[in-house]
Amino acid sequence: MPEGDSVWKAARRLREQLVGRSVVASDFRVPQHATADLSGQTVTAFDSYGKHMLTRFSEGVTLHTHFEMDGAWQVVGPGKALPKDLDDDVRLVLRTDGPTAYALRMPVVELVRTADEHRVLGHLGPDVLGPGWDEDEAVRRLSADPDRPVVEALLDQRNLAGIGNLWAVETCYLRGVSPWTPVRAVDLRAAVRLARRMMRHSLEHPGQVTTGDTRRGMTHWVYGRAERPCRRCATPVAFRDSVTGQPYARETWWCPHCQPGPFPTLEQRPTRPGLRRGVNEESFGSRTRRTAGRPGYARG
Ligand SMILES: [Zn+2]
Repeated sequence: MPEGDSVWKAARRLREQLVGRSVVASDFRVPQHATADLSGQTVTAFDSYGKHMLTRFSEGVTLHTHFEMDGAWQVVGPGKALPKDLDDDVRLVLRTDGPTAYALRMPVVELVRTADEHRVLGHLGPDVLGPGWDEDEAVRRLSADPDRPVVEALLDQRNLAGIGNLWAVETCYLRGVSPWTPVRAVDLRAAVRLARRMMRHSLEHPGQVTTGDTRRGMTHWVYGRAERPCRRCATPVAFRDSVTGQPYARETWWCPHCQPGPFPTLEQRPTRPGLRRGVNEESFGSRTRRTAGRPGYARG
């Protein structure tokens, strides 16, 4: 799922290519807007809010799109065609007097009046990367449910908008807290500042790097590194798979030594075929019973 910084970068690219262009023809391939027609209108803005995209048009209409798992905008230059194998993925065609833009695989493609944008965004917390960023409000919302695991609170877009799984997991690591630490025991302001700093850095640099090391395989501390040695203490990185039906129980990686605190029981901790259940379990939640450098951690 794209994170807020990916959507922000997409908005910047689309703005450069499409703002100021006139729509020559539009083709909505979603049932609720099958008859909508944006032709004759000028594209006036492409803006992101968290993981949402807003495309505004000259007659007071806003197109709201959300990428969810693998949606994307693709822009094709004049005289060029979208690759045929993407035809079935198209949800919207915006043909302009310049390039043509295609919204692909997006589960959310809806038109609202620009004056009513709050109806689609009003539930969201402050946008981490937006001009109206409000740290106090984000911290206030995060604190509202004191027993909630910090990783869930950071992922809940109603608290603050834009943080995806990568930034949430890496923030927990860098703050030295288990992802399941209740928010009341976490310095939320420091966590939010760190996440925002990393995401803003990502806006001007390729990739999503938290380690400062852009070499392949070196870009993250724990994200995507199940069973690999922690870069600081060599303890194998632990992994909890996502839980179906629980939107905030996402794939989670953490170092049991560098991030002390609560952790899911093995029953609550589904894992994948190929990732051994119970890896490193003897060290969970304990700084003292560390396993760094000890062989044979992957029992059974
Ligand atoms: Zn570690």
